[in-house]
Amino acid sequence: MSRLCGWIIRKARVGKVLIVEICGNNSKPYVLALREDRDKELYSIAEPLDIGSAICFEGTLAPEQKSRRGTEYVATKIEVYSKPIEPLPVDIAGKVPALLDTRIKYRWLLARNPVEKAIFKIRAGVLKAAREYFEKNGFIEVQTPKIVAAGAEGGATLFKLQYFERDAYLSQSPQLYKQMLISSFERIYEITPYFRAEKFNTTRHLNESWGIDVEQGFINGVEDILQTAENLVAYILDYVRANYKDELEVLGVDLPKLTPPFKRLKFTEAVDILRSEGVEVSELEDLSDAAEKKLGEIMAEKKHELYFIVGFPWTSTAFYYMREEDGVYTRKFDLDYKGLEIASGGQREHRYRNLVEALRNKGLNPEDFEFYLEAFKYGIPPHGGFGLGVERLLMKMLNLENIREAILFVRDRTRIVP
Ligand code: ATP
Ligand code: MG
Repeated sequence: MSRLCGWIIRKARVGKVLIVEICGNNSKPYVLALREDRDKELYSIAEPLDIGSAICFEGTLAPEQKSRRGTEYVATKIEVYSKPIEPLPVDIAGKVPALLDTRIKYRWLLARNPVEKAIFKIRAGVLKAAREYFEKNGFIEVQTPKIVAAGAEGGATLFKLQYFERDAYLSQSPQLYKQMLISSFERIYEITPYFRAEKFNTTRHLNESWGIDVEQGFINGVEDILQTAENLVAYILDYVRANYKDELEVLGVDLPKLTPPFKRLKFTEAVDILRSEGVEVSELEDLSDAAEKKLGEIMAEKKHELYFIVGFPWTSTAFYYMREEDGVYTRKFDLDYKGLEIASGGQREHRYRNLVEALRNKGLNPEDFEFYLEAFKYGIPPHGGFGLGVERLLMKMLNLENIREAILFVRDRTRIVP
């Protein structure tokens, strides 16, 4: 005998039988088939209930599973916990597909539907898998401050706030802090929000997004970081495929197994490939979104869904990446998934003098970074890491068209409620 709870998402009458579908955290609806003549008492409780009512029932699995829509139970008791006081503003049965705008506004309600909820169950699974991977590989989970005095990724996307007598910012990324911690931790990770005042409205940017951030010391080169990144992503995909079969099924997603090593494409090779396809690309700048997408199509033809672009030019990167001897290229990489950047990372500059020079070279004032620079004075080992966007990963894994589908409450240019 189990006690199961949820909301009525659908009711139908077939002759003398009342079919009630209930969804809580379950992936497939619980189905009760109540007969007017045989189940008099339960029928009289359930019959007047509106869609949206919150109920629990006690029951056992039906010996004969007749419903194709869910798992049938034989109930012995139904308790009503709450009734809607108004008709629901959205169709939680999912018969009428809601527009994205409505889905964003009412996700907290629409998630009663197993399809909408599946995305967020898988999202939880992604983070669970990531933690499991880190646990198995000697990474310690840390938390760094989200109110900061300096940005790491350029001033343009900083959200400013008043911090008593002085200005402060919301953290764009834990970059500076995670590097500082490599003064005392061998390997760390953080699951963290990124706050970025990107003004544009795109299908792949949020103003509050989440990242899985990694930093790893005692490395022999950027290859160590590439391996951590590909092994982490492969672990997450395997974990989701193994543990979220029902959710993937309701979403209609087939998640093929992708085995590392993922393709490593040099930045210069990417430029050549794109140019040979007639795409205009600069040798000195980051790839444009259109170029990134086109490269995704070219790589897909070669059966590469996930691939690295390695060795970005110094002119395109943040100050903290290690430069190659030639001074032109760096040890920065992107990890792209079906034509979209899902992670950026690389080996960092850990040599104090070079780092100060790099700041100056990028037009930054080393004095503003004193707290950070100090961490490079006392035996910091060669290190590197990356930031992996949780919503971007989900988007590509689940073939979502808009990043807004991958987060429960959206913060973008126009949304600050709900
Ligand atoms: P892009 O060039 O696509 O705007 P970025 O290079 O500025 O991204 P990074 O600083 O490299 O982003 O951040 C690491 C990862 O965090 C990105 O690869 C991406 O997956 C994710 N990310 C960064 N900014 C956002 C954002 N505004 N919305 C959603 N995800 C983001
Ligand atoms: Mg990036």
